Order: sequence, then structure tokens, then C-alpha cells
Amino acid sequence: MAEWDYELFWNETLNQMREELGEDEFGRWFKLVGYLRATEQDITLGVPSGFYRDQVKTRYQTRIEAALKLVVGRDIALLFEVVSQSQRAAALPKASGMLRPDAAPPQSSAAERKPETQTPQPNLFSSDTAREVKAKKGRHLLLREDYTFDKYVIGDNNNFAANAAMAISRNPGVIYNPFLIYGGVGLGKTHLMQAIGNYVHHNSERKIIYITAESFMNEFIQAIRENRTSAFKNKYRFVDMLLIDDIHFLEGKLETQEELFHTFNALYDANKHIIFTCDRPASELKKVSERLRSRFERGLNVDLQPPNYETRYAILKAKTQDRKVAISDEVLALIAKNINTNVRDLEAALTKLSAYADLLGKPITLESARQQLKDVFAAPVKQISASISIETILHVVANYFSISLNDLKSNKRTQKIVQPRQITMYIAREITEFSTTEIGQQFGGRHYTTVMHAREKIENQCRSDPTLEATIQTIIGLIKGSAN
Ligand code: ADP
Ligand code: MG
Repeated sequence: MAEWDYELFWNETLNQMREELGEDEFGRWFKLVGYLRATEQDITLGVPSGFYRDQVKTRYQTRIEAALKLVVGRDIALLFEVVSQSQRAAALPKASGMLRPDAAPPQSSAAERKPETQTPQPNLFSSDTAREVKAKKGRHLLLREDYTFDKYVIGDNNNFAANAAMAISRNPGVIYNPFLIYGGVGLGKTHLMQAIGNYVHHNSERKIIYITAESFMNEFIQAIRENRTSAFKNKYRFVDMLLIDDIHFLEGKLETQEELFHTFNALYDANKHIIFTCDRPASELKKVSERLRSRFERGLNVDLQPPNYETRYAILKAKTQDRKVAISDEVLALIAKNINTNVRDLEAALTKLSAYADLLGKPITLESARQQLKDVFAAPVKQISASISIETILHVVANYFSISLNDLKSNKRTQKIVQPRQITMYIAREITEFSTTEIGQQFGGRHYTTVMHAREKIENQCRSDPTLEATIQTIIGLIKGSAN
């Protein structure tokens, strides 16, 4: 019978047993069990004595087999072999850190020995970039503890997204699946996504993995290289909730997209929740297969907008209370007024000021705050980047002319709508790298020649009408202000 490498599965099974039994009991019975070898149908474990073997068998065999089945996806039989300590030590897993040979207690005293306290360790399914699932009760190893709902300030800009996220937390796998949060950098996508993870982690036994799209890809490539793609597949297909951050990274990464597509299907079919974040609407992803894009768009897609003044102020207030830094309300107002890009920039300003206050040993005045932050405040409007979405442009134009987004995208030919629509197309062509075809698609699948025509038309009009030119510049300014 050919040898199979089931060691990864065995280690995952150990993690589950450990969770189930607690450190004490687990330490008493599993410390001295070593993985020896496997065939397709069975795994052979090394134990120190016949007595030990019988005890483990009667106490745990059924439970271990059940856990193994969950991990592997089918029945695997357990066989035991009495082996010497050195054989077992050699067989103990090398990479997990959990059962290193040097950490194993002496054989004779195993049964009575109190297990040392273990620090949480990533299990063997993980690589450096992606540790999965809690190794013990308490915090989730992959989630930032402070990314919770109660630290998430809700304003007009994120109200809908935050409420959907809270609803999902209470009913994972049931509503809004998949859930995609999109928006510019620093607007709270990762925080919101992890808040769902943290909530579900603390309120259920669900197995959650958080990973960035980039790490997902790296791990996948490594699995291919090391010939263990089935372990990789298993890792991602038996979770209850999968959080994948920054999927725009997958543009052009076709093999990883393919893998994610299958992962998605497996989880979706099993009613497991899948959550994505992206820096733009899924419809604007380039070089993403049509079938994966349609999966992203299934379920619920919500956007995060930059916070308005009130929300910026509320966020600053919450952060100062949280960090226990003494910064006066008028200084907070000054920051909120002057930094309108995103929450990350607000935090950076706070950090800078509180460091300064610490250094001085006295509170910050309006004047010193202005002085400290003058570079930040004076920062020129950010260069137009490729990441401006057509959606952002549409929003800004619709707002500016007080018409609805739907009308703007529609086929309506009234003059009130036609010119703003042409302006939108013109601006999209001027300040983004989207092609006329891509822009046309955002307007109900219009032909690219329509976009070209719109652009020419606006260009001509601008020549004879300087106020139109000025209007367009104003709108571009607004777009720059709301994109990041
Ligand atoms: P993104 O993933 O969209 O780039 P993050 O989730 O990393 O943004 O958020 C950037 C920082 O701003 C984080 O420290 C996060 O905690 C904070 N943050 C974002 N939105 C909010 C909010 N609504 N309330 C409180 N903090 C926020
Ligand atoms: Mg993020």
C-alpha cells in the first residue's frame, strides 16, 4: 500500500482534540502519541506502551476518528503501534511547535505530569503568512482584537455596511452571502470584516479563517510547489467562515482565481459564509474571470464612503478616549475639518499629536496642533491614481447635478441627464485608466463609440464655454477629495 502523507490532517485533528478536551486532559493523553505513517485509508500512530494504547483507544478512538473525518472528508481508520521513545520523538511533528520532541515530557511520568501551559501556536496547516483559527479559546489568532463593532463608529458613510455586517454576525451563512465590502483605502473595510469575524468567534464555535488575497495566493503557490494542494484545499474548504481581504490583488492572477472559485463554490454550497473586501466595485475589477466576478457580485455588495465632518469628529473623539490621550475638543475639531481623506489619516494625525504631547509633557494647544500638522493639512490633493473608480465619479456627478444615479446610468435622453452623463464619461476617460469599453459598460453596457463621442462633444463645448470647463474642474476636485 502506498504511503500517504496525512500528517497535516493529523495535526489539525490534534488541534481539534485539544480544543475539545482542554489543555490538561489533552496533555495527559496526546503528548506521547506520535504520527508514524499512513496509507490512503488509515493512519498509524506510535504510543509508548500497550497500556497507553488501550487507554487512548477506549477513551478517544471514536472521537479522534470523527474529528479526522471532518478534516479529511472521509473515513480514516486509526492503527496503533507500540514504539520506543526515540522512534516516537522522531515521528512527532516538526513544524507545529505544539508537540516538538524536546517539549515532550519523560515517558515514565507522562500520565501524572501536569502539562505546561502552552502558548497558542499556529497549526501545521498554516504558513507564516496565514495562521488559521484559534489555537485556544480566547482571542482569534488571525484577527485583531480591537477590530470590533463597538470600536467602529457608525456614520452616514458606513451605516448600511455596518448594519449589514452586524446582521451577518448574528446569522452567519444565512443572509447576505457572500458579503463584499468595497471602498477606498483607510475607510474601514478590514476593520468591519474582522469585526464580523470577532463577533462570530466569540459567540459560536465556528471555524473562521481571515486571510489577505495576497497571502492566499502565496500560500497556494507554496502548496503547489510542495505538492500538497490537497491539504491547501482542505484547509479552506472545511471552515465555516472565510474572510478574504483585498481581492483586487487577484487581478490577473488566474490560477489563484480558479482556486478561489472552487473554494467559493464548496463553501457556498455548504452555506458557509464568505466575506470579501475590495478597493473598488467588483464590476470594475480587471482581468478577473467572469465567473469569479459573478460570484463576488452575488449576495450583498456594500460600499464605504469617506466620513463627513461629524463622523470624522466622532471617530477622533472615540479614538482619544480609547487611547486615553488628552486632546481638547477644539483641537479634534481642527483635525476633523482639515483631514477629509480617510480614517487612517485621522489616526495618523492623532498619533503624531499625542506623541508630541508626551514629549512636551503638556497639553496641545490649537496653535501647536496647527504647527505640528501643517504638512498634513497642506498636503496637495492626492494625485489621481488608477484606483479611482467609475462608481465614485458617478456618485460625485450625480450629487453635483442633483440627479439620481440610475438616471445617470440610464438611457434617458432628456437634456438634464444627457449632459451630466457625457461629463461623467469625459471625466472617467480623463482621470482614470479605464478604456472606453470599460466605461461604456458602467452605463448599461453602452458601446465604446458612445463614450468616444461624449468625450469629443464635451471637449468641443469646453472650448466655447469656459463655465463648463470650470464646472468640470470643480467636479474633478470633488472626485479627488472623495477618492483616496
Ligand atoms: P481599509 O481596510 O479600508 O484600508 P482599515 O479597516 O484598515 O481600512 O481602517 C483603517 C484604520 O481606521 C483602522 O485603524 C480602523 O480601526 C480605523 N477605522 C476605520 N473606520 C473606522 C470607524 N468607522 N470607526 C473607528 N475606526 C475606524
Ligand atoms: Mg484593509
